[in-house]
Amino acid sequence: MAQLSDDCFAFGGELMTTEAALSELRSRLSCICETEDVSLAEASGRILAEDIVSAQAVPGHDNAAVDGYAVFFDDLSEKGDTNLPVTGRIAAGHPLDGKALPGNAYRIFTGAPMPEGPDTILMQEDCKLDGETVTIPPGIKRGANRRFAGEDISVGDTILTKGQRLRPQEVGLAASIGQKSLTVYHPLRVALFSTGDEVLDIGNPLVPGRIYDSNRYSVAALLGDLGCAVNDLGILPDDHDTIREALRDAAADHDVIITSAGVSTGEEDHIRNAINDLGGIHFWRLAIRPGRPIALGQIGAVPFIGLPGNPVASMVTFMRFARPALLLMNGATDIDPKFFRVPAAFAYQKKQGRREWVRAKLSIAGDGQLQAEKFSRSGAGILTSMVASDGLVELSEELTSVEAGNMVDFLPFNEVR
Ligand code: AMP
Ligand code: MG
Repeated sequence: MAQLSDDCFAFGGELMTTEAALSELRSRLSCICETEDVSLAEASGRILAEDIVSAQAVPGHDNAAVDGYAVFFDDLSEKGDTNLPVTGRIAAGHPLDGKALPGNAYRIFTGAPMPEGPDTILMQEDCKLDGETVTIPPGIKRGANRRFAGEDISVGDTILTKGQRLRPQEVGLAASIGQKSLTVYHPLRVALFSTGDEVLDIGNPLVPGRIYDSNRYSVAALLGDLGCAVNDLGILPDDHDTIREALRDAAADHDVIITSAGVSTGEEDHIRNAINDLGGIHFWRLAIRPGRPIALGQIGAVPFIGLPGNPVASMVTFMRFARPALLLMNGATDIDPKFFRVPAAFAYQKKQGRREWVRAKLSIAGDGQLQAEKFSRSGAGILTSMVASDGLVELSEELTSVEAGNMVDFLPFNEVR
């Protein structure tokens, strides 16, 4: 089992850029998970822990791409119709009984194996059948409507690689070579806490001064999308000893610990001292908005991620920083989301030197092109803004303003699942 480097989040700098933070994560974190074999039925969403090399070609035989008639191309007239007797029938799963002979046509169906000899298939819609004779118009190309053995996968192809996250198509591809099971990484066991004296779990009557805990539910759902095994450990009060004991206990049987709130530098922000007692903490003062500091640390050898408390900030920082960290720890290789360049349908001023994310939805402009519309309010506590949006527009450090029509980098929420 790979180990985290000691002091995995140590960073000496002042305000840290997003790029620097991501490259720190990349260089300090590696896979900490054991592997297990799972059946294909259970493989979707898991991270592959082996390369899969095909021992066979797919498809295994040349076959028909349409329903129609298999013929020898050399029998066809270039100028006029060709009449051929239909002397055999080849259905999917039922190879031709006997040998195909020139001067004959064979009724064939999609997926049926091509017999040896015929090289071209006419679609049934293009032909006329009269009794046992088919009339074929001129103009077809040699080899038409025929799929070739190995056109999808050749023997020896690496069809899936270690570190790939398995989507439905990867699972289907594994099945297409007859693979029954795959070796994947164990899900990360994540201990999840909210913190804060004001934070109240749903199911309790709301009393003055308190708010319902939304972070634990949004973050648990984000973790679930990543395939983590989430252990919801509830809400911790703003109390040093309680926090310290709970985090120490959690470190005993989890791979990662995640909290939200309490990571600023106020006197009611107790995460810092608690983690300091147990291991080490590093505040990454990121040059970002929303977000403020993210706390990263270690409790013994167990990585700790302290997300900010504001509901939008906790989600955005999870998506951009916690997500790649967790994917690396879980053995994934492709941890970078894809951005899409779209024109902004808004104007915006920002401070130079920090990266900002504004919540935006996609719409179709008058000219039929996609555009990003910014949500009208931008507070880090406005969770309705996330619901109204399709993703985030990521504005780089250098930018000071955006004008309508400028191209911006749009990050769909679907890219950070
Ligand atoms: P803090 O980081 O503790 O200063 O919290 C920042 C803001 O986020 C405060 O307004 C908190 O009330 C709010 N907050 C903290 N935790 C949660 C939570 N679990 N769900 C919703 N809001 C929260
Ligand atoms: Mg607080």
